[in-house]
Amino acid sequence: MHCTRTVPPNTDGHYRNHCPYCLWSLHVDEVPGDRASTCRQAMAPIGLVEKSGKGWQVVHRCTACGHHQPNRLVRDGESPDDLDLVLDLPWL
Ligand SMILES: [Zn+2]
Ligand SMILES: [Zn+2]
Repeated sequence: MHCTRTVPPNTDGHYRNHCPYCLWSLHVDEVPGDRASTCRQAMAPIGLVEKSGKGWQVVHRCTACGHHQPNRLVRDGESPDDLDLVLDLPWL
């Protein structure tokens, strides 16, 4: 989406909703996983949060409507999220 690289499917059993290379996402959910949003605009990674029991999550903000959404980081499988990019994000 953002960097034009092909996003491979997850191999760790979870749905991938953001790009592992640039961490950008797409605004397709109102509630994570529901695909109910009609916005469909790019969401920028703005920071990290730590959720008890869920580990690190990257927070995305929609560039069109400002919607915030935390998303689980992909740490396992064939194409994990770029850890250097992740660590560059501020803690929220
Ligand atoms: Zn990308
Ligand atoms: Zn939006």
